[in-house]
Order: sequence, then C-alpha cells, then structure tokens
Amino acid sequence: MNRLIPTLSRSRTPSLRVLPLPRLQLRHNSTDHRWRGISEQDSLFAKDEKRPKWLLPSLALVSVLVVGTNGYIYYTSPELRNRVPPLEYGEFNQFPLMEVIPVTHDTSLFRFRAAHQFPDSQSKTNRSNKNEIVLSTNEYVPAPNHIVIKDDSCQVGRSYTPITYGRNHFDLLVKRYDNGSVSSMIHALKPGEDFILARGPILSFPYTENMASEVVMIAGGTGITPMYQLIKQILRSPTDNTKINLVYGSRTESDILLGHELELLSTKFPDQLRVNHVIQAPTGALAGFGFEVKHTGLINENVLKACGMPKPDEEPLVLVCGPDGMIDALAGEKPSERNQGTLKGVLARMGFSPQQVFKF
Ligand SMILES: Cc1cc2nc3c(=O)[nH]c(=O)nc-3n(C[C@H](O)[C@H](O)[C@H](O)COP(=O)(O)OP(=O)(O)OC[C@H]3O[C@@H](n4cnc5c(N)ncnc54)[C@H](O)[C@@H]3O)c2cc1C
Repeated sequence: MNRLIPTLSRSRTPSLRVLPLPRLQLRHNSTDHRWRGISEQDSLFAKDEKRPKWLLPSLALVSVLVVGTNGYIYYTSPELRNRVPPLEYGEFNQFPLMEVIPVTHDTSLFRFRAAHQFPDSQSKTNRSNKNEIVLSTNEYVPAPNHIVIKDDSCQVGRSYTPITYGRNHFDLLVKRYDNGSVSSMIHALKPGEDFILARGPILSFPYTENMASEVVMIAGGTGITPMYQLIKQILRSPTDNTKINLVYGSRTESDILLGHELELLSTKFPDQLRVNHVIQAPTGALAGFGFEVKHTGLINENVLKACGMPKPDEEPLVLVCGPDGMIDALAGEKPSERNQGTLKGVLARMGFSPQQVFKF
C-alpha cells in the first residue's frame, strides 16, 4: 500500500552527496571556557582565531532565520503545504487520497488531490442553449481518456477513467475485485494518509466531433466511466450534434453507476441522449430511482435492436466497454491495450465492420 509518509524517501529530489568533514575532537578549554576543536584537521576551527568572533554565531542566526521563515511560510500557506503534482502523460506522480464515497456494495468513488492547470476559458465551451444543466467539471483533456495507476508493491499497472477533473482533484469510480491487484490496493487506501502512483491522462479513443451522426455506447458495470466522460463532452460542446444511444448493462438495479447523473442528462437533452438500462437479474429495487428498466438479461442482438440500434449502413460509431466476457460476446476478444483483435460476436453477426466498432 502507498502511504503518504514514505513520500519523502521516494521524492525525486536528487540525493545529496555528503562531503567528508574534518574529524573533530572537542575538548573543554578550562581557561577561556570555550569548546574548541583541537584535531590536526580542524582547519576550520584553527582559522577561527583569525576570524571575527561574531562570524559563527551570526551565520547560525541567519540560518535559523532562513529555515524558520521558510518553515513558517510553508506551514501557514495551504497552497504550498498541499502542493501536489499534476497528472503527467509519461511520468508516475503521487496523488494523495482525499475522500472515499461508497456508491454500491463493491464500487466507491475515490477523490484524489491533483494540481491541474485548467484554462479559465474552459467555461466558455458551455453551450448557451444548454446551460441550464451544470456540467460542473472543467475537463480540458479530450474524452475519452484514462490514467494508469501502478501498484508499487508488485509493479502492476491498470487503467482507470476519471469521471471528473476538478481544479484540484480528480475522481475515480473503482470496482473492488477481491483478488484484483490494483482495485483491492485502491480500496485499501486511507483518506488523508495514503496516495496512489498515477500517470496520464491518455487518450483512450481518438474521438472527434460529429465523426458519426450517432454513437452507440454499449457499457457494462464500470465500463460506464469512459462513456460518461464522452457523453458529458458531447453534450457540453455547442458544435457537436452527435446523437448518443447508451445501452448500459448492470447485474441488478443497485449496481447501476452514475444512474442519477445519466437520468439528469437524458432529461435535459432528450433529443440527443437516450439511456437504455439492461438489468441482468432485476430485483424491482428501482422503484425509487425514477427511471425505467426496459430490458432484462444480458445484452444481445435482440436487446440492441429493441434499444434502437441503427443498422450498419446508417454508419454509427459503436463503442464497447465492460467486462472481458461482455466484450468477447459482443465484439470478440480484445487481446491487449493496443490490439483491438478481430471483430466477432453479436456486432459482427449484425454486419458491423471493424472500422465502426471500438473496444475499450
Ligand atoms: C481504458 C480502461 C478504463 C478503465 N476504467 C475503469 C474505471 O474507471 N473503473 C474501474 O473500476 N475499472 C476500470 N477499468 C478496469 C481496470 O483497469 C482493471 O482491469 C480492474 O480494476 C481490475 O484490475 P485488478 O488489478 O484489480 O484486477 P486483476 O488482478 O486484473 O483481476 C481482476 C479479476 O479477474 C480475476 N483474475 C485475474 N487474473 C485472472 C486469471 N488469470 N484467471 C481468472 N481470473 C483472473 C481476479 O481474481 C479478479 O477477480 C478500465 C479498464 C480500461 C482498459
């Protein structure tokens, strides 16, 4: 586990080379009541005789003043005290955990402190006719993007999608896998004490505005996170008119992540965003949520058609993100981060081409 305290030992400050000091034997001189160095290497002290007597005490006083002033500034300035690095593409930095909010039985929201330099002009991108809804984050990093978190103890890295980039923080929704290396490490972190090692953001998919008239987002579980990021970006942009059809699979109603946020967005942008919840094993627990589950079971061809999936010749963009089993069944195996593999499964059978489908 990454603790805050060891940060000092792991800091990237170049290590100081310790120069050998003259070895000193100190002996009390009873005649003038001073401690004097008497070794033959004690040139520093020997030359003392030629130096003004006030020199050493003055140097000591100046040192104390400098160190004291710096310490005072550091401890009284929250900005300096809380200084953390920004996310960097190529380098792992330390980000202290500020807060943990449980969301479902196995998924929590983790807020990490980070220094972001957001251009203030960011808010200008709020479209005037859609500004009743506050898309409060200052995301300047093009969506969809992710970061990589490293478990320092075993040097394993995993990707996570920030759902919010705030001015001084970013938020992750992380599902805990009991035997999972990185997710269980993140779930064991203590706010105010621990930190993660992360680098990024990294563009997950090169989305450009209006690259397709409709984007179908098929998500399962925490696979909703890159979709949510992109949904917010599309709805925020005054020039992106892409229609979004989200097909979101969850095990039960209480496993739905970002349900309220999605509901709010689809209510505010009914002509642009359609949200279809597909619940594998419904319990009827959604009554209080205020949104309707129209489809049950796993996401398959019939469910996709019932959700209004466009035909391949209508040239939609199809994004798929979820557990391996879901990706395999819908679009064929994704062998690695950089290899999309062959398009197979439901989408291939429906006639979509590899150019139309992206697997996260
Ligand atoms: C672009 C991208 C974005 C992502 N964003 C998020 C996000 O926002 N939030 C989120 O929670 N996740 C996200 N993920 C998933 C995340 O990267 C991890 O895959 C996930 O957290 C599991 O990692 P882990 O190290 O905890 O588990 P792992 O150690 O990889 O194990 C995961 C599960 O698989 C089992 N397992 C592992 N190896 C084997 C094996 N050989 N055979 C059988 N079972 C095995 C484990 O027991 C465990 O149950 C994202 C993934 C990608 C690619």
